[in-house]
Amino acid sequence: MKAQPQASHFVGGAYVEDEAGETITCVYSATGETIAELHAATPEIIERAMTSAARAQAEWAEWTPVARSRVLRRAADIIRERNQALSELETLDTGKPIQETIVADATSGADCLEWFASIAATLSGTSVPLGADFAYTIREPLGVCVGIGAWNYPTQIACWKAAPALACGNAMVFKPSEMTPLCALKVAEIIHEAGAPAGLFNVVQGFGKVGAALTGHDLCAKVSLTGSVETGPKVYAAAAEGMRHVTMELGGKSPILVFDDASLEDAISGAMLGNFYSTGQICSNGTRVFVQRGIYERFLERLAERTKAIRLGEPTDPETQIGPLVSFAQRDKVQSYLKSATEEGARLVVGGGVPQGEAFAKGAYIEPTVFADVSDEMTIACEEIFGPVMSVFPFDTEEEALSRANATPFGLAAGVFTSDLTRGHRVAKRLQAGICWINAYNLTPVEIPFGGVKRSGLGRENGKAAIEFYSQLKTVHVGMGPVESPY
Ligand code: NAD
Repeated sequence: MKAQPQASHFVGGAYVEDEAGETITCVYSATGETIAELHAATPEIIERAMTSAARAQAEWAEWTPVARSRVLRRAADIIRERNQALSELETLDTGKPIQETIVADATSGADCLEWFASIAATLSGTSVPLGADFAYTIREPLGVCVGIGAWNYPTQIACWKAAPALACGNAMVFKPSEMTPLCALKVAEIIHEAGAPAGLFNVVQGFGKVGAALTGHDLCAKVSLTGSVETGPKVYAAAAEGMRHVTMELGGKSPILVFDDASLEDAISGAMLGNFYSTGQICSNGTRVFVQRGIYERFLERLAERTKAIRLGEPTDPETQIGPLVSFAQRDKVQSYLKSATEEGARLVVGGGVPQGEAFAKGAYIEPTVFADVSDEMTIACEEIFGPVMSVFPFDTEEEALSRANATPFGLAAGVFTSDLTRGHRVAKRLQAGICWINAYNLTPVEIPFGGVKRSGLGRENGKAAIEFYSQLKTVHVGMGPVESPY
């Protein structure tokens, strides 16, 4: 199986290569096969990307809003037309099952480009009457934005950053994760084909060093990072050196609260979606599931039944529901958490190891796993695992559940399952998280803002809120009378 792109980078509207860059090996994690070899960007490629972005941005900012909107809209249409091929590539890049990628990745990217196409056409400033004088505001682009991606949603992350950035009149240089370098190149190709000026959206490959070089570049006006809580502060600090704008989409350890009166099946569906989708590699996953004592054992029993029925397998098989993790290194990490859970006394309910059989022998597979009777201090209760590992905790009262749910440095997401309407809203209000779901989990339509509080991040992606993070206001005060001066 091969997925070798034309070249490693897409800069100035064309594929470019510089073989002097460090090798990036792209491995299909279901088989261990190398499917592509790319090169990290050299300083020359970085310079070319940043300067061509600056040139394209100056041109793009002069376009009428409706002309900019048309390009984004066309890009969305092309992505939808090519959904099958893009989804297959996403599956190879990440190991996620085609059953998921066909509905959740390129399509989500297209939704985002389409939605921000409408926003692009309607952006405007305000007018402020000041007696005889008046003032107005102009919403201006920031300039060249740098996007840095994680490996779990390579197409979606590229689009979620490109769409608002371009809608506001910026250009972007995007660095995908070195684990999943392939999909963003397709996004760049499509945005160019849709009619964007050459260099408006560039993709350069590389490890952390390339990300750091982009963040520290003189032409960089803003950095949007999707990554871990360890990388976030480093990028934030580097951006601060140049007084650059930031958006930080980082990790979490989000809680789901299931009350006695909840629909058991819906709560279990929410918990499974929020722990096993994308083989558990989702930042907003609800990995701490607090279940009220009255339904605790029933919840576990039914959850185990449903978890055992999940179909693990080869990701390109449309019947497969869970594929391997993104890499063998990630599987080692998840396995070390499974070991710590057992050593620290958690009760294994289902899963807990590597699935047996020929079909799984060569891939980075791990069974969807549930631990019960987890205590708040255990390692699996405190650290982000980024694998299909659910921790279930019993609780007695609403107050207790809230205080335990909030006792974490993270604050990306949270969920509550209850049939008591007022309790749903009361609990959502008190949960410390950027996004809360009531009787649902992990839904992230592009129309609503997404992002974290506490150590999970800063700023918001999607929704109108994203505009604030990709533009700035200029105020113009117009004096209509004689200048009053004491001198
Ligand atoms: P990571 O932090 O290791 O890497 C993220 C990106 O940052 C990569 O492209 C990497 O090359 C780059 N990078 C590393 N060091 C850098 C530096 N010093 N300067 C600039 N760039 C640097 O994260 P990962 O392992 O690729 O992704 C998993 C993490 O991402 C998880 O913690 C997950 O929760 C988080 N995530 C968050 C969201 C969100 O929207 N909040 C979405 C997806 C993933």
